[in-house]
Amino acid sequence: MEHHESQPAAEQADAAEVVDAVQLASGLAAVRKRRMCLWGVLIVYLPAMWATQKITHSFSGSMPVFFLWFVLLLWAMAYSATARCPRCKNYFHMHGMMLLYLRKCLHCQLPLNADKAPR
Ligand SMILES: [Zn+2]
Repeated sequence: MEHHESQPAAEQADAAEVVDAVQLASGLAAVRKRRMCLWGVLIVYLPAMWATQKITHSFSGSMPVFFLWFVLLLWAMAYSATARCPRCKNYFHMHGMMLLYLRKCLHCQLPLNADKAPR
């Protein structure tokens, strides 16, 4: 005789959905983290340039810092642009050559906070 766990089929279906929700949440958290990297690099620009001006007192002296920041920006752009949507597996912010930082997936319209929205 086959041993039956006292677990109705409905609960097992729920469990499968929970795994999916966890994947969705971790995927969206990764997308949000990459967006934060880009915003962080953008926000750091003004205080960094201000501090550099204060220290070097010259435009040419701040050029290496600007260059460093620009490289950081390019990296953050690439890093955030290649974040993948956890639902459709396409690039979350990139559709062909179009790069748009909307609060939803450009392909399947999955909201950035889909894992936080009440069901
Ligand atoms: Zn998507």
